[in-house]
Amino acid sequence: MISIQGKGVSTGVAIGPLYFYKRANTTITRETVSDTAKEWDRFKAAQAKAVDQLGELAEKARVEAGDSAALLFETHQMMAEDLDYEENIQTLIQDEKLNAEAAVSDTASQFAEMFASMDDPYMQARAADVKDVSTRIIGILTGAVQGGIDSKVPVILIADDLAPSETVQLDKSKILGFVTEGGSGSSHTAILARTMGIPAIIGVGDQVKKEFAGREVIIDGTLGVVIVEADATTKAQMIAKKEEQRKNREMLELLKGRANETKDGHSIRIYCNIGSPDDVSSVIGNDAGGIGLFRSEFLYLNCDDYPTEDYQFEAYKKVLSDMDGKEVIIRTLDIGADKQIGYFDLPKEENPAMGNRALRICLSRPEIFRTQLRALYRASVFGKLSIMFPMVTSVWEVKEAKKMCERVKKELTEEGKAFSDDVHIGIMIETPAAAVISDRLAKEVDFFSCGTNDLTQYTLACDRQNADLGRFFDPHHPAVLRLLKLVADNAHKNNIWVGICGELGADLSLTETFLSIGIDELSVSPRAVLPLRQKIRETNVATVKDKILENL
Ligand code: PEP
Ligand code: MG
Repeated sequence: MISIQGKGVSTGVAIGPLYFYKRANTTITRETVSDTAKEWDRFKAAQAKAVDQLGELAEKARVEAGDSAALLFETHQMMAEDLDYEENIQTLIQDEKLNAEAAVSDTASQFAEMFASMDDPYMQARAADVKDVSTRIIGILTGAVQGGIDSKVPVILIADDLAPSETVQLDKSKILGFVTEGGSGSSHTAILARTMGIPAIIGVGDQVKKEFAGREVIIDGTLGVVIVEADATTKAQMIAKKEEQRKNREMLELLKGRANETKDGHSIRIYCNIGSPDDVSSVIGNDAGGIGLFRSEFLYLNCDDYPTEDYQFEAYKKVLSDMDGKEVIIRTLDIGADKQIGYFDLPKEENPAMGNRALRICLSRPEIFRTQLRALYRASVFGKLSIMFPMVTSVWEVKEAKKMCERVKKELTEEGKAFSDDVHIGIMIETPAAAVISDRLAKEVDFFSCGTNDLTQYTLACDRQNADLGRFFDPHHPAVLRLLKLVADNAHKNNIWVGICGELGADLSLTETFLSIGIDELSVSPRAVLPLRQKIRETNVATVKDKILENL
């Protein structure tokens, strides 16, 4: 038995085979082949597999986000079987005796160049499609696995670290738990694990050896421990712990339908954070009052090109309809920093967390912003939508973003397209600047939602991605808590509500503090809803408030 210590970032016990994440291998070796018929067969087999995979992705997209979302994958299917494309590959294999990988790669470059030189913007955009389809086929030819998991049974996934774009593409039904060599607790992989309600451990370094692949491991997300081939006693203890956790969950189930009300009658709303329309079922399953943060950038991370207005419309419509009239707060695109997207072609930055990200990108590339806002307003008739802007630092940014909303509403009116006239506008408070001028910002919006992950990072000058900073990244730091109180006071003075949608919202050791400073809403991962409700129902604000405020 080998026991490895890391840092638990999502609680729970999971048992299963260890699986090393496979990254798509795009390095191609060029070879001259003698058996061209065999090479052609290799291509045909890879092409057939790619078409199957794309069919599955189209079905998944249809279920998650509707017909127009499926269209992208269906187009890719057609492209993989396009006769001209195929003929070009055949010629390169037969006449030039190229290996299949190189023939596909050369064909992709030729076709992409041809599409890119066309006048029609639609055809120009096909350049990215042909490259994407070819990368898939090459991945199959070289043995790299698309989607990262090639296993029939669910596994405990280990990776050096996972970029958000890799995480969103994983087949979640195959994952019992995550282990990463690096990473930090407020990274988006950790956040995703909590949203999925599965155990996760980060920072195990190089202790998990390649030869452990396929062996049975147990991970305990509370203790942050990975056990390889546990002895019988440890295994029995862990199974008992898993059972205890299951029973605890059962007890929490009894809280469904109950109010989020303290012993002395203070109410607070509990909403959920989600990253995909898929997550709505667990929001409803855990009896949350709404969605406090839909990280819309995950839709962008899941695509190989800018998602169209219709694609986004279907996804937002699905979330709003499924939530059946409960409030859904959709955050506009928040990319940059750790969430990089190739097709945005953003210049490399020395300091991306402080660079061109989130609302800054939207304001400097208004066409991207406009497409998202059009999709959001069109979807607004299907439920109770609120729109929220991330990474605000100045009043002018909010004014400009609101102006763009007005422009979009005017356009839709002129086009005779319906939208709700009751869409609330809010901002995230996640920079110290926004917290300090929250009295002024409050005059511009309907609500605030505090993003404590970034607020901690920027207030303490401490990179949230850097696992080595450990105890220096302290969201309990009085500077962060005082800023939260300042924001709550300014919100209430201006008659707007204030919530917390950073990971801190689910930290039960601070629930009394949040209730004491008057936070109106906490938005947490779905599995955190019922434990939070339990904590709120056990609290008596009157007995703790004075002491908490004195010590803040
Ligand atoms: C935050 O910064 O607290 C937040 C909720 O946004 P994200 O974690 O997506 O940056
Ligand atoms: Mg943030």
